[in-house]
Amino acid sequence: MQFARVVEVYDKIEATTKRLEMTDHLVRLLRDTPLEDLDKVVYLTQGRIHPDYMGIELGLAEKMVLRVVTHATGLDESKVNRMWKDKGDLGLVAEDAISARRQKPLESIPLTVAKVYENLDAIASESGEGSQERKVRLLSDLLGNATPREAKYIVRMVVGKMRLGVADMTIVDALALTFATKADRDRVEQAYNVSSDLGEVARAISTKGLKGLDEIRLKLFRPIRAMLAERLETLEEIFKRMGKVALEYKYDGLRVQAHVSRTKVQLFSRHLENITEQFPEIVEGLRTAIRGRDAIVEGEAVPVDSNTGEFLPFQEVSRRRGRKTDVDRMAKEFPVTLFSFDCLLRDGEDLTPRPYTERRKALEAVVGTGETIRYSTSRVTESVKEAEKFFDEALQAGCEGLMAKALDSPYEAGARGFQWIKFKKEYSAALSDTIDLVVVGAFAGRGKRAGSYGALLMAAYDEEADMFRTTCKLGTGFDDETLRKLPEKLKGARQDRRPARVDSKLEADVWFNPEVVLEVRGAELTVSPVHTAAAGVIRPGAGLAIRFPRFTGRWRDDKGPEDATTVKELLEMYRSQLKRTKASP
Ligand code: AMP
Repeated sequence: MQFARVVEVYDKIEATTKRLEMTDHLVRLLRDTPLEDLDKVVYLTQGRIHPDYMGIELGLAEKMVLRVVTHATGLDESKVNRMWKDKGDLGLVAEDAISARRQKPLESIPLTVAKVYENLDAIASESGEGSQERKVRLLSDLLGNATPREAKYIVRMVVGKMRLGVADMTIVDALALTFATKADRDRVEQAYNVSSDLGEVARAISTKGLKGLDEIRLKLFRPIRAMLAERLETLEEIFKRMGKVALEYKYDGLRVQAHVSRTKVQLFSRHLENITEQFPEIVEGLRTAIRGRDAIVEGEAVPVDSNTGEFLPFQEVSRRRGRKTDVDRMAKEFPVTLFSFDCLLRDGEDLTPRPYTERRKALEAVVGTGETIRYSTSRVTESVKEAEKFFDEALQAGCEGLMAKALDSPYEAGARGFQWIKFKKEYSAALSDTIDLVVVGAFAGRGKRAGSYGALLMAAYDEEADMFRTTCKLGTGFDDETLRKLPEKLKGARQDRRPARVDSKLEADVWFNPEVVLEVRGAELTVSPVHTAAAGVIRPGAGLAIRFPRFTGRWRDDKGPEDATTVKELLEMYRSQLKRTKASP
């Protein structure tokens, strides 16, 4: 298929902010796409060339791409640099530069999807000596043959800023509509939840139909999308809903999905990034703890003070990236312990359809504990009294609260439901609890903050509509250094206009693609006509706002935007707060 057809649709997708229209455009594109190009088109639409978890990044340096654009168009270097300064989007620079190109190449060949994909893939996999020159050549080859519009998207791809604004779930919808019916959408989503690979789902459904989806199974070294928890405000409500439950300590750390074979260990974050390199002590621990078997095990990694044995604030390890020597040093200084809580696969057998109790047994049979690997503390009970006591113990141990798990529940990949319910310590005073909000905009700073941002516009996630709706302006809790660095830190997410998935009545000075999640503490929730979270639910024309929000200092790098506090959760907190106010004399 011609690449021109694809970018024609991308332009239409870019121009709309309506999810249904986006889906329609995608469906038309997928219908036109020959089978052999289908997975490639799906990955490109996601702004990648392989599923996320493979960790294959294009991310070429912007300076280098600028050089290639200059070279491919024969324009003046200073002119191209000026365009870059003006536009701030290398894709637009490439588009204009190709339009203004002095000489059209004599024998330019129209680009095909296969050719674009092949070169991008090669760029991503080049490494070692001479790789820079080879990357330059591969990109020049594409730009030499590209139309201005094609160049725009190719360049955005290679710098890792494609951002069409198409959510994964929109692609799921489009695949169902193209190759099955709307009613089959959940089966498509299920296949995605198990495989975390939309290209694979597209291949399966397009060649074998729904039967193909059933063949997508849990597999070692391919992460499954995490099962998520709902929250309730009281232990009574939890028991009313669930009856006899398993309660577990809720550790405040980083969720880890460990894939272990006889020869290899790989760790994935909740966001399905490969984080193996960041936690050598867990890799080593699992090697000894799971001997001679294949397994997928889930747990929460928490830093532990090696002197006192107490938990440390999670910030100590949340940024374990960078050079290996630094990681090794940190692993010594602030070693983490993995509190394992689930076993999803054992020696090739998929345990996810099995009830919780069986999986827990499997966990204890497969994993031997050691210094860095332990089991989550758990207790099965139907007594509120016993639960209260267990909750106090959890808090004393430095945990956030409890997780209640239905004894008969299968592992539901990617689903947030009442099979798992979280119960945190601050519920008794709902808003001393922290929430995780997504940065969607910023307002220019004045006075001392001139040149940086005065406040950020923060949003909660609306799962039903797959949108981000605003709930506060956040201006306190930043120290001078953080403040100074904010524009630079958020630069990568900057957008020229309000992104399609952001719902805001306020007009920010700068917009951001929803990517960055910050932990925020607020005093209370109020109804406000300014914000759009839960708009119209409590009072017509008004949404929910956080009063006196304050940044806790914690960047939730471990959370994706869709993992942020949801609008529904805010509503639940608001309602429980009301109940309490009414109940008090
Ligand atoms: P939250 O991030 O507040 O939505 O809470 C859900 C998260 O709690 C999960 O994604 C895990 O990272 C974490 N967690 C801590 N302890 C447990 C546990 N025992 N079982 C399941 N999840 C846990």
